[in-house]
Amino acid sequence: MIIDSHCHAGRGDLLTAPWNTDAPMESYLRRARRAGIERTVVFPAFHTDYVTANRELARVVDQWRPRLVGFAMVNPKNDAGRVREMVREAVVRHGFRGLKIHGHEAMPTREVCEAAREFRLPVIVDVAGKAHVIDMFAPQYPKVNFIIAHLGSFADDWRAHERVVEQLARYPNVYADTSGVRRFDYLVLAVKRAGARKLLFGSDGPWLHPALELNKIRLLGLLPAETNLILGDNARNLIFARPSQGDGQSQVPFAGQSSCGDHLAFVV
Ligand SMILES: [Zn+2]
Repeated sequence: MIIDSHCHAGRGDLLTAPWNTDAPMESYLRRARRAGIERTVVFPAFHTDYVTANRELARVVDQWRPRLVGFAMVNPKNDAGRVREMVREAVVRHGFRGLKIHGHEAMPTREVCEAAREFRLPVIVDVAGKAHVIDMFAPQYPKVNFIIAHLGSFADDWRAHERVVEQLARYPNVYADTSGVRRFDYLVLAVKRAGARKLLFGSDGPWLHPALELNKIRLLGLLPAETNLILGDNARNLIFARPSQGDGQSQVPFAGQSSCGDHLAFVV
């Protein structure tokens, strides 16, 4: 099963660029279906209020279930003091399975990492080229799995790619997604240095074409088992493990957290 681990859905409210205005699903889902992508991890577009954005995302995920899987977005700075409550709502009410943090807003704080650890959620972090912060949060929270978006930089920052490749090799809890990485040889280097177990295929849809991004993984020319790790097996292991309900003991049913009971089992 091919899983796209990086896509956006829903509307932003800033209206200055596509990524803070709208992330429509129709064309993305058509393209993804043609490309053989069966599941897609989605998180909101940039927004000034992620409580609202996460709720809207939940409605989009419900509309396209089971193809879409939600990740909650939080702004570690603006949402300071309410992160745990937001994460709890995301997991228990919406059935979300991870967090997304964007470094243009703020980097992961202790509050974010502790919520991720408590609810056993992976955290996708766009460090926006500032790969040095990974050396801070990754060893502080070894039980939290961090997925570094765009191999560290959407802006082709090769220094960030180089550093993230080293961090993939060094930290067991650091992974990266391939979305938007144009400098192809850094993907080659990442597999060589860190192994196929450390990369997840992502598209950065709907703004990038999922089939185009998927073809990059094919072009790596890896063994089928390695290709399968990147295209879906790694995501399945990281994202679809059971999250905790937050009390450290009981577990929410596997992909069945919705109060309305329509969250069908996400069996992959
Ligand atoms: Zn993105």
